[in-house]
Amino acid sequence: MSKPSDNDNTGAATRTVLAGRRAEWTGTPDHPGAVVNPAVWRASTHLYPDMAALRAHPANRDGNFYYGRRGGPTQWALAEALTELEPGAAGTVLYPSGVAAIAGVLLTVLRPGDVLLMTDNAYEPSRVMGRGLLKDFGIETRWFDPTSMASFEATCCDRTKAVLLESPGSLTMEVQDVPALAAAAKARGIVSILDNTWASSLGFAALKHGADISVMSLTKHVSGHSDCMMGSASAGEDWYRKLRLRAQGLGNVVSPDDASLMLRGLRTMKLRLEAETASALAIAQWVEHRPEVARVLSPMLPGSPGHVLWARDFTGGCGLFSFVLKGGTSAARDALIDALDLFGIGFSWGGFESLATPVDPAAIRTASTWPMTDMEPSDTFGIRLSIGLEDTANLIADLEQALAVWAAHGDHA
Ligand SMILES: *Cc1c(COP(=O)(O)O)cnc(C)c1O
Repeated sequence: MSKPSDNDNTGAATRTVLAGRRAEWTGTPDHPGAVVNPAVWRASTHLYPDMAALRAHPANRDGNFYYGRRGGPTQWALAEALTELEPGAAGTVLYPSGVAAIAGVLLTVLRPGDVLLMTDNAYEPSRVMGRGLLKDFGIETRWFDPTSMASFEATCCDRTKAVLLESPGSLTMEVQDVPALAAAAKARGIVSILDNTWASSLGFAALKHGADISVMSLTKHVSGHSDCMMGSASAGEDWYRKLRLRAQGLGNVVSPDDASLMLRGLRTMKLRLEAETASALAIAQWVEHRPEVARVLSPMLPGSPGHVLWARDFTGGCGLFSFVLKGGTSAARDALIDALDLFGIGFSWGGFESLATPVDPAAIRTASTWPMTDMEPSDTFGIRLSIGLEDTANLIADLEQALAVWAAHGDHA
């Protein structure tokens, strides 16, 4: 089987099916490619046939048997598949979680005395890393308004070494002008890192749009089944080498069982994303017209902030969006979420099952305002929905009865 990257005309769906399935990983020496998927190679110890082989071994080279911490065919197949799906990537490093990937990347790129710029809509554990881990290592983090180039420029200084982008932000869904920000960063010698979890490489070609390193929490769309955690960082040759060495030095390794689950999820990811995108868009359009709702936060919604950039740069969406209630109280919002039957209450997304969580950005923002400047100050209580694979009509009916519970809540009387 030739590798999909051998042919640039190969479409994303075909690529998703073929990627990483090297014949030597899916068979035996006598029967290469005999099965569809790589086996789960559980191994800490890798054996050499004799001392000559050990002595001749190109120690620790990529994709060679060496020792369990460097992975085996199951992990290599997943890493290669993710590389095949990220245009412009030379390699992918796997981490035990998305947070571990972000930490691993930042600890590769930054040194004591450096300044990191971080988008103000970043995933909260990324912000915590800036205030904690990085600070403890003598690295300063400064936040900038996600949608303002002027804020980015004003926050830059001569010690700025890297910028962490997240687009759309996974709570409030602002889309960043990644090509413009990455170009401005490059002109100043700043490394741009994108948390691309929302769109995945199927929906946004991060490196092609100028990012130096693309990070994903595979826990979300790639797993797709809420049963496994992992993260990845994909980059061109230079950063890939550095990321790999640092990950190795930090002892990062993922289990072959988990890599196998991720490969299984990956094969259907495109279909799941398309179904969830279509359902989320229909639900967002329904929610938008509800009298209880002040604002829907989704770049997929025509007319919404971020839609122009999303339509320009993205090839897909996903099931994640938020909305803000018209006034009300925290207790009323809790009653709404409790009234939902089909939405689980939980801090994740990207699974086959729908989820709802409260969104309260005000408490964590430092460089931009919440509610957004064009919103009523009393419209502060947000809800984030991760739309899964249930029937859209059932999800809408569930939301309708829960919004009625909200409207009837004592605080509105
Ligand atoms: C979930 C998430 C992460 C972290 O991933 P884990 O696998 O949970 O550690 C990072 N970024 C975004 C945008 C996320 O939603």
